[in-house]
Order: sequence, then C-alpha cells, then structure tokens
Amino acid sequence: MQNLRFNALHEAQTRQEVHVKLPSIKVSDYFATNVFHDEVMQHYLPADAYKSVKTAIKNGTKIDRTIADQVASSMRTWAIDKGANSYTHWFQPLTGATAEKHDSFFMPTQNFKSIEVFAGDALVQQEPDASSFPNGGIRQTFEARGYTAWDPSSPAFIIERGDGKTLCIPTIFISYTGEALDFKAPLLKSIHYLEEAALPVVNMFDRHATKVMPTLGWEQEYFLIDEALYNARPDLVMSGRTLIGHAPAKGQQLDDHYFGTIPDRVYQYMLDFEQESHKLGIPVRTRHNEVAPGQFECAPMFEEVNVAVDHNQLLMDVMERVAKRHKLKVLLHEKPFAGVNGSGKHNNWSLGTDTGKNLLSPGKTPRTNLLFLTFFVNVIKAVHENADLLRACIATAGNDHRLGANEAPPAIISVFIGDHLQRVLDEVVSTVKSGKLSALKSDELKLNIHNRIPDVLLDNTDRNRTSPFAFTGNKFEFRAVGSSANCSLPMMILNTIMAHQLVQFKQEVDKLVKGKEDKEAAVLRVLKDYIESSKDILFEGDNYSAAWAKEAAKRKLSNVKTTPHALDFLLTKKAKNVLVGSGMFTERELLARYEIFHENYVKKVQIEGRLIGELAIDYVIPAAIDYQNKLIQNVMGMKSIGSKPTVYKTQTTIIESISGHVNAIYVNTEKMIEARKKANLIKHEPDKSKAYCDSVIPQFEIIRSHCDKLEQLVDDQTWRLPKYRELLFTK
Ligand code: ADP
Ligand code: MG
Repeated sequence: MQNLRFNALHEAQTRQEVHVKLPSIKVSDYFATNVFHDEVMQHYLPADAYKSVKTAIKNGTKIDRTIADQVASSMRTWAIDKGANSYTHWFQPLTGATAEKHDSFFMPTQNFKSIEVFAGDALVQQEPDASSFPNGGIRQTFEARGYTAWDPSSPAFIIERGDGKTLCIPTIFISYTGEALDFKAPLLKSIHYLEEAALPVVNMFDRHATKVMPTLGWEQEYFLIDEALYNARPDLVMSGRTLIGHAPAKGQQLDDHYFGTIPDRVYQYMLDFEQESHKLGIPVRTRHNEVAPGQFECAPMFEEVNVAVDHNQLLMDVMERVAKRHKLKVLLHEKPFAGVNGSGKHNNWSLGTDTGKNLLSPGKTPRTNLLFLTFFVNVIKAVHENADLLRACIATAGNDHRLGANEAPPAIISVFIGDHLQRVLDEVVSTVKSGKLSALKSDELKLNIHNRIPDVLLDNTDRNRTSPFAFTGNKFEFRAVGSSANCSLPMMILNTIMAHQLVQFKQEVDKLVKGKEDKEAAVLRVLKDYIESSKDILFEGDNYSAAWAKEAAKRKLSNVKTTPHALDFLLTKKAKNVLVGSGMFTERELLARYEIFHENYVKKVQIEGRLIGELAIDYVIPAAIDYQNKLIQNVMGMKSIGSKPTVYKTQTTIIESISGHVNAIYVNTEKMIEARKKANLIKHEPDKSKAYCDSVIPQFEIIRSHCDKLEQLVDDQTWRLPKYRELLFTK
C-alpha cells in the first residue's frame, strides 16, 4: 500500500465542492418548518388545551395528564404529516453529548393490522435503558432506573436524515430517586431560581414586568479539515486533537485568514448546515473565518437560555452530520493544533423581561438607568464572590490547552467593564460617600448618571478581547467557555450565582427601606458597598500579560491552570453554600458531578497517552529509521568510492541526530507508561486525575518535541502522517 498520507493528500486535493440547493431564497420561507413551535401547537391543539399548556410553560408548573395526551396526539399528527415515523426523547447526559433512543409510532394490532400511536405517557416520560451513562454513584444497581421527562419549555423538532425523520422531544434525565443525571435539569432549576430572584428586584422599578428570563447568544468556533486527511491522523480520529505535528512555516502570523474570503468548499458546507439549522429553528445569522487557518465561526440571534442551549447542542450534531456530505470533518475540540489558536464558545448572557426590556441595557431615563446599574453591579458582585465557580464550570481537559495560551483568557477570572462604566461606578461611590443622597430626592437624584450611561451604547469600540468576562454594551460575554462544551453548566452557574446575589441584594435594600430610607437612595447605598467590595475583580488591561498574573496574585484572585485542580472549587464551603444551599443540587448531585468531571478528564488523558505512545512507536520511529537507513546506505556508498568522512559529515550528523531522538522517544514513552500505570493504581478519582495531570501530561510534551524534531529531519516522502500545513491549508 502506498503511504496513507499521500493517498489522502491526493484525495483531498482532487475533491470537488458539493453544491447546495437551498429550499428557497428567503430563509423565512423555511425557518422552523421542522419545529413544533407555538403557532403549530395552537393550530393542532384544541383552544383550551393550548391555553393550559401555555400557562404551564409560563409558570413552570406540571402539565395535566389529559392535556399531555392531547399534546401527544397533536404532535403525532403534525410529525406524521411531516413524514416522521418514529420519535425519541432527546436528552443531555453528563457525557457532554446528546442521547436518543428511537421508538416507532407503528404498533401492530391483530391479524397483521397496525396503527400509528403516540400517547401522553410516551410524551411525558420514558425509561431508557441508560445504565451506562455516567452517574457518579447516584444510581446504585438496586435503583438503576433512569427516567427522561418532557421539558415543554423547549419545543419538539424533527430531525431529517434522508427518508428517515424522527420526532425529537427535549427532556431532562433523572434517576429513580429524582436526582438529576444530566445537564438540563439543573439548568432549568437555575433559570427558575433566577426568574424568582430577579422579578422582585425588577418590580422595584417596573411594576408591569411579570417575568424575567436569562438569555444566551453563543458563538461557535470550529475547524474544518478534509475527511481523508483526518482519517490519516489516528490522533484526530481518536482524541479530536493532534498530539504531534511540527508547526507549519506559515501559521496565523499574517492574520490573513481572519474575516477573509470564505473558501468555496467551506462556503457550500456552511450554506448546507445553516439551512438544516434554520429548518430546526436555530436562528444562525453570522458566519466568518476565524483567526487560525482552517478555523471558522457561526453565531445565532440570542434566545432564552434553555432553548439556546438545546440549539447549540443540536447545531453541533447538525454540523458533524452535514460535514460528511462535503467530505469534511468538523473539529469542535478546544485545541486541535498546537501553535495555532484553539476554539472557544463565547456565551453572551443577559436578562430580559416580558415587558421587552434587556436588564443589562443602559436605559435612557434615570429610572431605567438605576435598573440597569442595579443588575450590572449585581453581576459584578456575583462574579467577585464566585469567580472560582466560574473557573470550575469551564474546566475540561481540552480547555486546559487553550486558557492562558495567549489566545484565550487566562485561568484568572476577572470582569471587564470599560473606562466609561468604571467612571459611572466611581461616581456612584463618591456621591453616596459625599452624603448628598438625601438631598437628591428629585430625578436628579441619579447623580447625572442618566447623562452618562446612554453613551455606553454608542461606544462599542471600548472592548477588551482578552477578558474572560466582558461587558459588551448590553450583555456580558463569558469568553472562557470551550468550543465543545455544553453551555448548560456555565449558564447554570451564572444564573445561580446571580440569583443568589439578587436575593441578598433585595434583603439589604428592604432592610434600609424599613429603616425609612428612600428606596432609590437605599439601592444606591447598597450598590456603593458592592462596587467597593468587588473592585478587585475588575480589570481593564491585557489579560494575557505576565503583569496581570502578578497583579491578580496580589489581589488574591485564583489562577488555577488545570482541570483537576480547578474542579476542587466545586466542593468548597462557599460553593456548597451557593449550589446546595439554593437547592440547585443536592449534596449527592454535586459530588456526582465532581467525580464525573474528574473521571472524564482521566479518560481523555488516558486515551491521549495511549495514542501518543502508538504514534511514536508505530509511525514516527519507523519513518525515522527508514530514512536513517537510506542515509546509512548513502554513507556506505560514499565510503566504497573512497570519500573521506568530512564529505559525508552531514549524513552522519543526521544519522546520529535521528538516533538521539529515537532513543529519547523510546525512553520517555516508557516513562509515560510507567506514570500512567502508577496513576491507574489510585482509586480515588480526583486524586487519579491529579496524577494524570501532574505526572503523565508533562511527558506528552517531551515525547512530542522529539517527534516534531524528527518530522523536520526526515525526508518528506518517508513521513507517514499528514503534516500541519496539509491539514490546515488544503482547501
Ligand atoms: P461579537 O462582536 O462579540 O461577535 P455580536 O454583537 O455579534 O458580538 O453578538 C454576539 C452574540 O451576542 C450574538 O449571538 C447575539 O445574538 C448575542 N446577544 C446580543 N444581545 C444579547 C442579549 N441581550 N442576550 C444574550 N445574547 C445577546
Ligand atoms: Mg464575541
């Protein structure tokens, strides 16, 4: 067989782009056609049933069984009208991926007759045989059952795969004892908690609002590479990232890829997955090249958090599926290539009301300004108090390679608000301190703040791309989330710490008001305290700089660079107080997550360890020896014609150099295997993951450096693995 690398290169270079035919020119003609959304439900349901479903969704209350039967029957009719013949509960177990188990609508009756059925029971609850999903000890064998339960707040949808169409019902996944086994159940709880905590605060300023909901707009980064080249790299196939590979002569230093012309083949792919996403109601709107070669991004219009999370999970599935049609492979890993930027998933987060207000949008009147300031400052305070939780919730083996690598925020959590808002906060502090508060009873009370804040909207240039958590005009952008992450966890943590904070805020204001302080003055007084006590979390400078790491240490902000150590933040007294105290998790649910996240880390690193050993021994060393033999032959030939050693000095130098690297690879691979064996003996998962992190991973770098040196030394024709330039620049 010819070298797999060259076959793959040939295949990739002769690839034709796949032209996509869109259902219509206007997306609005086919947007959400595969979604059982509100209007469809209204069309298919009797009026009173529709009304009770809507009320239940709005209030987060249980849906009556008879109503569920009606919803099921209307869903079935709709789905069958659309050509679906099966259904599945669609859920998000703690593996990070989505899960489904299909059942047919078809039901045999007597005498080889059959009908299509789908009853309320099947809609509301299922018991998937899910014993092998991670549960962190929650499900003992005697109570091994797990249930999926319908989440009516996220609409059902139909996935099309050729002629196969499946009705998918978003669900949560819980154990027999009612404990959450997934990402979604705690997210829903946190949304509810935040809604409950935020509404009384909003009502201090706006009596008409009856509902507050968190919103999320994610930005998904990804790499695309040719399928044949991907298949010729065992490390990409098995671990999602390249474990060896020398940096190409040209990387991203010219910045010529960012926002450049999208390559044709990629463009067709984008059109294709976008149209599928649009049919599923995912409102993707933007697409562009990212910084690294072969890297791209897409983003939707923001939505309510719950639906946005589902849509991101769904989008990642759609992207992977559609890529096959284009003979492309989408890489969602946080760091597929060393030396070029990795991928993140910015989570833009805000709060909206049913009166159409964005609570993080600076208002135009004094009253709305104060509302804005209240929420704005409470976010800062919440992050200040719980920065470690935010760090923990984005910790994964993949994200460790990206954070702090001068391409993504460091492991230090801080908040960027910009000069302008900083001045506004300073003014709040100085006005309250000056004691002018009681004199300012009129609308002028708001300390000229109203004269200043609207500028913020205009001043969109005031941005800091290095901050992990930045205010960007009307929302906060959590930038440290990894590209493959399920947004549920970071959103759940953010919702929870904010809710927890708002509850406290309301209590403090109420206390002052009871003590006869004017309400608005009371708000300002509490905000002033918050601004002062959380100023250490604010940072406007370059988060990538070494100076910041020093300064952050002085401020006692933590800077934990690796996952196993960052996960420990989940179990601090403070974290438990917030997460368990608020009822978002039971002790056992929290502990289960802690263990599962460690376990995930161990498994990923374990796989990488096996792979790097395999690559080094089976691919790199044989290629090096092949080339070395060629050189030896050459040297022997030189000798035979009587050449002096000085004439073939280069050859002998390379021969020796190759031997040096080959030996080093061998020795260090043995060391790495020993370290793994030692780590595997550790029973306690959190300790095992720390051993992997601290004693196995450092070996990877050493092995890699020798492999990469060999890649440079060895004759290109002999090298077996597609090189970075080929993976990244083959269009
Ligand atoms: P960027 O310049 O960072 O790419 P954009 O203004 O394009 O930012 O917005 C990025 C994301 O932020 C989009 O998904 C957008 O819908 C989302 N976004 C805008 N407003 C809000 C909001 N109020 N809540 C949540 N996300 C929002
Ligand atoms: Mg952004």
